Amino acid sequence: MQKLLAGIAEFAVESDCDGLFPEQEFNLLRESGLLTITLPDRAFSFDEQQTLSLFQLLKSIGKASLPVGRIYEGHINALYLISLFGDEIQKERWYADACENLFGVWNTQDSAGLEIHDLGNGRYRLNGSKTFCSGAGWIGRPLVTGKLISATKTGWQMCIIPTDEVKPIQEDSSFWTPLGMRASASFRMDFTGIEIMEKDLLGPPDAYYQQPYFGGGALRFAAVQLGGAEAILEETHRFLNEMGRTEDPFQRNRTAEISYLTETGNLWINQAAINYDKWITMQDSTEKLLAYANMTRTVVEDICLRSMHLAEKSVGSRGLMRPGILERLHRDLTTYLRQPAPDAAQMAVGKYVLDQKNTTTLWH
Ligand SMILES: Cc1cc2nc3c(=O)[nH]c(=O)nc-3n(C[C@H](O)[C@H](O)[C@H](O)COP(=O)(O)OP(=O)(O)OC[C@H]3O[C@@H](n4cnc5c(N)ncnc54)[C@H](O)[C@@H]3O)c2cc1C
Repeated sequence: MQKLLAGIAEFAVESDCDGLFPEQEFNLLRESGLLTITLPDRAFSFDEQQTLSLFQLLKSIGKASLPVGRIYEGHINALYLISLFGDEIQKERWYADACENLFGVWNTQDSAGLEIHDLGNGRYRLNGSKTFCSGAGWIGRPLVTGKLISATKTGWQMCIIPTDEVKPIQEDSSFWTPLGMRASASFRMDFTGIEIMEKDLLGPPDAYYQQPYFGGGALRFAAVQLGGAEAILEETHRFLNEMGRTEDPFQRNRTAEISYLTETGNLWINQAAINYDKWITMQDSTEKLLAYANMTRTVVEDICLRSMHLAEKSVGSRGLMRPGILERLHRDLTTYLRQPAPDAAQMAVGKYVLDQKNTTTLWH
């Protein structure tokens, strides 16, 4: 495992370019079996409730490379949605596909969003595009969501596109001009004219937003982000030692703070994983699980921001120059921390707590 992570971290340096995708890193992940690790009978099978191990894995990959962690998290998310909503035939097909293909989940869109038109006889035509599609054309099995236009059903429909059986998805890399996370290749993808079949639809309309699965997913990106904070601690530690600046009391204090912040993040992620496995099967625990997930993502965001700030003060402008690793980590983590609805996530925690009769048994 350490060799794999070191390999990913090494390749991450050259993958940090506009228009590039971390191909070598994903070759390593494929060879190591990590693309299929959550499938039935594998080490972190979703059936076995291995959430703590999964989060620690996501964190480790995020520590080696945040863009790789982002794309890998999307792959795991798609496989989780298949495990929840796929029928047996679909599971067999898509699980087999996961050995060679990367999956991704593309839900974000702007005003030119995706429609899925029911043509009858089990055929559907797509119209419109998605933004922030991590992995872009390198994803062989993108799970995309769109508005179902049909005489018989309505809602937000998931489908998984068999890219090798349909006309090419048009990709627009000019969309992706970010501060960081360049290697996540999160382009705009246009699906107009692509035709899919009934077998490519995943779950009923609106299954994508079913709770607590949708909101609970924030825990996975929080785990990857925490990997970024750990990488910052490691690089700061290396820099201060190389510069012989470890005797200074202020440097020691800042190092202490980054250390306890990242460890706090670990305690949160681990406890959230334990709670997830416990509460996911309890019918009346959905709101509690969501509140805990929202607290965790909020705390982890704060931890990452504070750790970056402290690390910058510790290494100074000299330590933030290219091709230094901290320069890239700063850009990548700053970008990746921008996840949907941060204010709403925190507000929902407050609402949940205030809605309880008292605070004595909040997280029991
Ligand atoms: C590296 C990266 C990879 C990504 N990959 C994917 C992917 O593969 N698939 C995918 O589906 N998505 C992906 N995303 C998109 C991601 O999930 C979020 O949707 C996106 O990052 C949110 O962007 P934003 O910060 O501009 O959001 P915004 O929603 O614009 O939020 C910015 C701020 O505005 C606030 N705000 C939002 N709406 C309003 C409003 N109406 N009025 C006032 N304030 C408002 C928010 O609370 C927040 O404070 C990716 C994002 C990144 C950065």
